Amino acid sequence: MADAPSNDRYSRQSILPGVGDTGQRALSKAHAVVVGCGALGCGVIDQLARAGVGRLTLIDRDIVEWSNLQRQTLFDEEDARSGQPKAIAARRRVMAINSTTKVVSEIADLNFENGELLVVGEDKPDVMIDGTDNLETRYLLNDLAVKHRIPLIYGGVISRRGMQMTIRPGSGPCLRCVFPEPSRSGETETCDTAGVLGAAVAIVSSLQAAAAIDLIVNPAGDVNPVLIEFDLATIRFRSIDLSKLAAPGVRAGCVCCGKCEFQFLSGERARPAVTLCGRGAFQIPAGAAQIDLSRLASSVARVSQVTATEFFVRIVPREGVEMTVFADARAVVRGTANEGEARALYDRYVGA
Ligand SMILES: [Zn+2]
Repeated sequence: MADAPSNDRYSRQSILPGVGDTGQRALSKAHAVVVGCGALGCGVIDQLARAGVGRLTLIDRDIVEWSNLQRQTLFDEEDARSGQPKAIAARRRVMAINSTTKVVSEIADLNFENGELLVVGEDKPDVMIDGTDNLETRYLLNDLAVKHRIPLIYGGVISRRGMQMTIRPGSGPCLRCVFPEPSRSGETETCDTAGVLGAAVAIVSSLQAAAAIDLIVNPAGDVNPVLIEFDLATIRFRSIDLSKLAAPGVRAGCVCCGKCEFQFLSGERARPAVTLCGRGAFQIPAGAAQIDLSRLASSVARVSQVTATEFFVRIVPREGVEMTVFADARAVVRGTANEGEARALYDRYVGA
């Protein structure tokens, strides 16, 4: 019986072509920031810790809920019962998986004001991993990646579909080269309204972990930029070549990596603050675009109690909590403990 960590801990990985002892050493010295410890974050964190990544910074604003356990693999029933912050529960799990990994947890809602401090800090990470569930934070991460030249590994999953893309600032297209604008609130499905299969999450988080390991082991690697997409409903996988978007002449037209306008990081595109309105009620301000209320009502009706009128949709996510959404994308949330929870509910049901 061996008590101490064994020397052959990474033997099955370091034997791989392209890894070797040099790659394994690079992993032990690497620092990865994972933004969002939800479904994708859990899968990536687990794999990076097991692969021997030396330092992990975990950022998340939420607490563990029972409905997370179906796909968020770092958490257990006790975490849900005691409502542990995800960043803390994930850290405890990582320390049990690999005691040599240094883990810093930040319980925070990443935004344009704290983004540079939390993600870039005093020494730049080697890689950032997107485990978020809202578009504004995704575009903020893209700004951070391009501005500070930090590779970013994007991943998204909903229902049985997923996608993954690696952003290598300076040499390949950024998120805004591929998707110039975030889709509008109320027009995107969320995992809370459309559902999500744990198996689809595991595919995307594995693609993200593989991309992160590859970037760390082989940072100068010359790979064609691709967007990987799949749908398990039809068992269809495809890899879209993004080489054309990588051409400097094409990238020059991109607001972010061509013109260096970091609109999400500067706060120009940030959502206005949530305000207190009356006793125990928070107001989410109006968005840039109108919401299709009947569409919102029908997508939410599958998972929550809903009342719809011509003027508003009222959602009751749980007993004692009520969110009224208006056509201008404004919402009033009653019964939540704080504005962070009000914002999180909005992101969950209406979409960010
Ligand atoms: Zn770009």
